[in-house]
Amino acid sequence: MAVQKEKTPMREQKPEERIKNFKEVPFGYTDQEAVVEAERCLQCKHQPCVEGCPVHVPIPQFIQAVKDGNIESANQIIKSKNNLPAVCGRVCPQEEQCENVCVMGIKNEPVAIGRLERYVADYNMERGTSQSGDEELKKDRIPALIGKKAAVIGAGPAGLTAAADLARYGLKVTVFEALHATGGVLRYGIPEFRLPKDIVDQEVAAIKELGVEIKLNVVVGKSITVDELFEQGYEAMFIGVGAGLPRFLGIPGENLNGVYSANEFLTRVNLMKAFKYPEYKTPVVVGKKVAVVGAGNVAMDAARTAKRLGAEDVYIVYRRAKEQMPARSEEIHHAGEEGIEFKLLNNPVAIHAESGRVATMECQKMELGEKDASGRRRPVPIANSNWQLELDTVIIAIGQNPNPLLTSSTKDLKTKSWGGIEVDSDQQTSREGIYAGGDVVTGAATVIKAMGAGKTAAENIKKYLLAKN
Ligand SMILES: Cc1cc2nc3c(=O)[nH]c(=O)nc-3n(C[C@H](O)[C@H](O)[C@H](O)COP(=O)(O)OP(=O)(O)OC[C@H]3O[C@@H](n4cnc5c(N)ncnc54)[C@H](O)[C@@H]3O)c2cc1C
Repeated sequence: MAVQKEKTPMREQKPEERIKNFKEVPFGYTDQEAVVEAERCLQCKHQPCVEGCPVHVPIPQFIQAVKDGNIESANQIIKSKNNLPAVCGRVCPQEEQCENVCVMGIKNEPVAIGRLERYVADYNMERGTSQSGDEELKKDRIPALIGKKAAVIGAGPAGLTAAADLARYGLKVTVFEALHATGGVLRYGIPEFRLPKDIVDQEVAAIKELGVEIKLNVVVGKSITVDELFEQGYEAMFIGVGAGLPRFLGIPGENLNGVYSANEFLTRVNLMKAFKYPEYKTPVVVGKKVAVVGAGNVAMDAARTAKRLGAEDVYIVYRRAKEQMPARSEEIHHAGEEGIEFKLLNNPVAIHAESGRVATMECQKMELGEKDASGRRRPVPIANSNWQLELDTVIIAIGQNPNPLLTSSTKDLKTKSWGGIEVDSDQQTSREGIYAGGDVVTGAATVIKAMGAGKTAAENIKKYLLAKN
């Protein structure tokens, strides 16, 4: 039989409809589409896709189970390594990881591993069969660890993954989360139309069923310190507090009314549930013309959210070229379809006001020069090329650093110059019994890398506690 060269397409909302709502854009595979796609997997012996996945999901095995029509078994296979499959199936940059090394991808399009993962997770969530069985869980328990206390700080993908694995080993795990809701960026950053929050709720609920306790509204470093947690009998700790402190451009006019950090903008929309009540066009006022500065996933999310809140002209302003944009290609494609305009090779140099509010952003045109340290061609300003972009709102999405609250209140915890926590290859920090991972260690990265770090840390906390006792 001839090989299907392209991925089985996924149906999605039409651009002209979806820009008026916050509902998820792609619909997911039907049973039949999933089997057709699963049949594209070559079931390679050396399985490069498994190595390409930071949490090592047994990808060919779960795809074989889909092909065999055993979707519950496919779910158990995925969940043996990944506690957030419905999330990862939607937001992982598969093109840089598992799908990047897929053998089918050498001559054709790679197997749509992410879409199949999403299909399996959704299928089982809809039928209430997404949790691992009791017998399955009992086999991971380590008698010497049962009942010992471990603390996890931060309920983002790194913390949730570490907590789930530690609970599987039999530890009594408590997660301390600063906000009133779990999920980290999955909750307050990534918009509803890319990652519905009921998906996050269901995957977090499944983690709680493993015995993980989650304490919300606890800002570690303020409400309680790391040392006080040790005094309360926690024998080991994982820090996964992310990188939630936005970076700014440092240009004149950045503190005007009408300038947001993408963090603040997306957090307001997500946590104040603007997606549920778009008719109110609150709690952020975007006006008609919006510029988002930056070209990563965060910038695409902010631009597409602004469009859905009623902005007519939404621009991505980026100082480099299209091929250097760091966002997932699917996000760039979706943004383009939704009418987001790309003002590439343009660098903002000032924001100007009228009556105290943003009126224009002054941009300087750039061209590409020699390669810089990152291997990308450096953007070089073109003399006398400044121009004004008329705007109501500017959203800055040029990256985040870790919030120093926890690190500055924890004695002897070594950090890097930009505030990230220093760890060794076991994710161990400079303090005994304290491990860290995710964005707080790497800087802003990806969900699956944060999860991979959470897994490595849990494994090494297990070893540490076994050696200690
Ligand atoms: C808008 C946006 C879109 C993105 N899109 C994608 C995407 O499509 N694909 C992808 O792979 N990645 C994406 N990312 C990146 C990805 O979300 C992050 O890399 C990932 O969430 C990092 O996980 P984490 O657990 O390290 O941190 P976070 O998700 O930031 O979670 C940290 C948690 O710790 C809590 N916390 C912070 N300080 C304290 C404290 N002192 N005490 C207690 N709790 C604390 C925070 O409230 C938060 O809940 C995106 C990021 C953003 C902002």
